[in-house]
Amino acid sequence: MNLNDLHQMTDSFNKTEKMPVLFLGHGSPMNAIEENQFVAGFRNIGKDIPKPKAILCISAHWETRGTLVTAMKNPMTIHDFGGFPKELFDVQYPAPGSPELAKEIKDNIHNTQVGLDEKWGLDHGCWSVVKHLYPKADIPVIQMSLDYYQSPQYHYDLAKELAPLRNQGILILGSGNIVHNLGKVAWDKLNASEYGYDWALEADETMKKYIVNGDHASLINYKSQGTAFNLAVPTPDHFLPLLYALALKDESEKITLFNDKLVGGSLSMTSLKID
Ligand code: ZN
Repeated sequence: MNLNDLHQMTDSFNKTEKMPVLFLGHGSPMNAIEENQFVAGFRNIGKDIPKPKAILCISAHWETRGTLVTAMKNPMTIHDFGGFPKELFDVQYPAPGSPELAKEIKDNIHNTQVGLDEKWGLDHGCWSVVKHLYPKADIPVIQMSLDYYQSPQYHYDLAKELAPLRNQGILILGSGNIVHNLGKVAWDKLNASEYGYDWALEADETMKKYIVNGDHASLINYKSQGTAFNLAVPTPDHFLPLLYALALKDESEKITLFNDKLVGGSLSMTSLKID
């Protein structure tokens, strides 16, 4: 990097107060248009934290070979689901992108070669929650993909390289669900009944214990944690965004849990703020 590059970089994202990091349990896409306790939780957290200059979202719903960041000026709203009402497909979240931030991430990540993407946009893992934090869609949003071929440790280490962004007004937000087994959802109990299978309750409690105690190694090694974890995390996609958030926590920071409830037996909405 030469001085001119450095000048341009610091021009676009000046040093700011350190931004918090969020992990949001997004749950059903219907949370995008419903009014419920989880939506209220998202809204409250949006009011609670400093207004970011831009948002970097790591969503469970964008898996790729290699790591990509969205680099278009105007990301489209992707309706990456089926079987939901037209009202949900009609939702648009027209936040601008930030080609500058995408380039900065590409230039400053060294663990891997980050690619600039022009085809994706904002998937529902991102917009269905971000719209409650920032309903005006006036803050630029970019996404970073999950490299499907990499280990949990890889994702954790990659996330650590994003840490400097926190001092430049960037809100880093992981969106997934720590307990997420769609095959076992009790669909008749989806409406925030707080019903949870024994294994889901066990995994949720144990994960929260690890989260609060800073035992990241046990979470990175989630595949070796026994039956409850195996049922709670049948595929890595919804769990990995949690590792991105935790990797960014400084020793001196605290964790605040919210939306800490199970729905449909096998989904945990548990969300957290790190600051
Ligand atoms: Zn999801």
